[in-house]
Amino acid sequence: MWKPETDFATMRCLTHPLLKRLLGLSPQCVPGGLSPSKVPVVRPKRSSLRQSCSARPELVTAADVVSYWQKVFETNGIPEARESSEYIVSFVLGAKTFQSLNSKSLRTPLTAAQQEQIQQLSHKRLERMPVQYVLGEWDFQDLTLKMRPPVFIPRPETEDLVSLVVEEESRKCEKNSGLCFPVSVPHPVILEIGCGSGAVALSLLSKLPKSRVIAMDKEEAAVDLTRENAHRLRLQERIHILHRDVSYNSAEQLLLWGPIDFIVSNPPYVFHEDMASLDAEILRYEDLDALDGGDDGMRVIKTILALAPSLLKDSGSVFLEVDPRHPDMVENWLQAHRNLPLVLRAVHKDFCGKPRFLHVQKQSR
Ligand code: GLN
Repeated sequence: MWKPETDFATMRCLTHPLLKRLLGLSPQCVPGGLSPSKVPVVRPKRSSLRQSCSARPELVTAADVVSYWQKVFETNGIPEARESSEYIVSFVLGAKTFQSLNSKSLRTPLTAAQQEQIQQLSHKRLERMPVQYVLGEWDFQDLTLKMRPPVFIPRPETEDLVSLVVEEESRKCEKNSGLCFPVSVPHPVILEIGCGSGAVALSLLSKLPKSRVIAMDKEEAAVDLTRENAHRLRLQERIHILHRDVSYNSAEQLLLWGPIDFIVSNPPYVFHEDMASLDAEILRYEDLDALDGGDDGMRVIKTILALAPSLLKDSGSVFLEVDPRHPDMVENWLQAHRNLPLVLRAVHKDFCGKPRFLHVQKQSR
C-alpha cells in the first residue's frame, strides 16, 4: 500500500531547485516521523565549536560552522542536517548555496555578528522549522519568493505544473500563428485556485509576459504574501488577488475578468487519513488546510472540475497537481459526470516518476 513516508512529494525536500536541475538529481528527502513535541538541544560530544575550530577562538570559517551545526542537527535528530546547515550558513554569507561560495569566502573568518545570526537561525531549525521559513525566502523556478509561516511552501515538483501551462500556451500560439494572418497576439487569462505564496501565479506571469492572472486563496496570510511577492517582483500590474474560498458559486465573480484560458491549481490533495504521518515540519508550521483534501483527497479537486466548464473558454484547460492515486479517481469521476463537457487529456509524471499532474480540457459541444 502507498505510504506517505515513501512519497517524495509529501516530504521536505531541501535540494535547491537550481542545483537539482544542474545535477539532474532527484531531491534528497528525509522522511519525518518525530513527534511534534519540543526537541531538547544536545550539543555534539566532541567539543564546542570554538575549541574544535582553531587555536585562536575567534577564527571560525564557514566550513567549520557548517560541520558544527550539521553535527548539532544530527545529534538532535533534525532531518537533512547537512543541507540545513549549509543553507543557513550560505544565506548569512549572502549566497544561495554552499557550493556557490568561492574559496575566499570559505576561508575568511566569520564575524561575531555572522556567527550570532547563524546561531539564531539554527536554533529555529532545531525546533523543526522548515529551512524555507528559517531563511524567510526560497526559490521557485527563476524567482526568489518571501516565505512566512503558515503559508504553504512551494514544493520543487510544482515547478513542473508551471512548465505544463507554459508548454500548452506555446503549443496553442504555434497552432494559431500557422492558421491566422496577421498573427493574433495571445493574452491568456489564467486563474490560480489556492495561490499560497504566489509561486505558481507569479512564475506564470514572468514566463508569459502577455498573460493576466487571477490568484485566489481562502487564507488571508496567503493572499497577503502573494501580494507582497508580486510587488517585490514588480508583477503586480497583471495580477488580481482575491481573498476567498472556491465554491460552486464562484463563477459569477470570477467571470468579471472574462472567460478563462487556463485554470491551474495545486489544491489540498492529501488524503485525510495520511495527514497525521506528515513530517513534523509540516504539522507544526504549515497551514494544514492547504494540504488536507478530505477523505479521498478530492474535496477541492471536485469543486474545481465542477466549476471549470462555466469559467473556461472553449478548449480551455485545467492543470492540476494531484496525488498519484487521483488520475484514476478523476477519470471515474468524469465518467460519472458526463454532463460536464470535460475530458482528461493527459497525465504527466513528476521527477520521481509518479503520476502527478492532470490536464483536463473543456470540449465544445
Ligand atoms: N505535495 C504536497 C506535500 O508535499 C501536498 C500538496 C497539496 O496537498 N497540495 O505535502
